[in-house]
Amino acid sequence: MVDNQERYNPIYFTERSVCPVCAGRNGIEFYRSPLDEEPIRGFIASHYETQGTVDWNKLAGTDYVLRECQTCFLIYQVNVPLDAMLYDIYCVMVAPGPLAQLEKQRLTLENFNQIASELETLFQLTGKHPSDVTFLDYGFGHGRWARVARGMGATVFGIEHGEDKEREAAQLGIAIVSDAEIDAMRFDIVHTEQVFEHLVNPGRDFKRLARITDHVFKVAVPRPGDIRQLVQRHGMTNQSPLAKYVGGARLTMDDESYNAIFPLEHLNAYSDRTIEYLASQTDMELISRARRCAPRVDLSTARSAVRSGKRILSPLYRKAASDQGYYILKPRASA
Ligand SMILES: [Zn+2]
Repeated sequence: MVDNQERYNPIYFTERSVCPVCAGRNGIEFYRSPLDEEPIRGFIASHYETQGTVDWNKLAGTDYVLRECQTCFLIYQVNVPLDAMLYDIYCVMVAPGPLAQLEKQRLTLENFNQIASELETLFQLTGKHPSDVTFLDYGFGHGRWARVARGMGATVFGIEHGEDKEREAAQLGIAIVSDAEIDAMRFDIVHTEQVFEHLVNPGRDFKRLARITDHVFKVAVPRPGDIRQLVQRHGMTNQSPLAKYVGGARLTMDDESYNAIFPLEHLNAYSDRTIEYLASQTDMELISRARRCAPRVDLSTARSAVRSGKRILSPLYRKAASDQGYYILKPRASA
């Protein structure tokens, strides 16, 4: 292989030769291995084992390569799937049946309370009555967030592909809009939950979404930790953290770091510095890095009332350590 010539199958993959956030050319490569050989093969196989089918022929001939940009500090996969491969990943390797089942299981009262509590913070930041709020859920998925925003009174729009999703959204009172349509619209809240790590062109898409945000732009992504140091010291894992999580295990910080660079899907891993870079480029201000937790109040017995009283006095926000993967931004002009 010639230096600076990437190894990928051009039918299914393309190369991101420059940083997809800042277009910088000073990225440092710190990991490389073929997609269809260990340890990456095991990483992929264990991830999709319970979700769908992997066609290894499509992954042969392409390297998994990690680079860290020295301008914006994004960590990114260099070789990324083309549209046909993306379809394969999100519709065949992640089969719709098992995913719908998992998403349904996640619709618990506890999850509802968690989302409602966080959305309350976002709604308050708009300074508007909830029924006047317009909310864009970019990457609507199965509507876990959008349905709560709708329930709170907002007018909710979603971006997602496929007729099934449109039907599901319509049932929840949510309008599916196209990527092209949103460029001519404006929203009080632009909401992205576990979306930006998947995007092939995150710099471009961040700019587009920042431009249509009137008040609040939320970006939540996997926590990267110090993934570069982890890989350099301990190498790559061959076990998917998601598979561990679905199996009921608690994830360690290292698991979370490996999850942030999962092959094929988590194409970008963001540190605080990357988000700060994006904010500076789009005239946005970073106003919070802490996700609000739901208060647990159970007044059914006196004892639990005492306990929950203590909880109420405890902080509602998780401590904002660095690189937690949670960001609330607002346009500087609306400051
Ligand atoms: Zn960069």
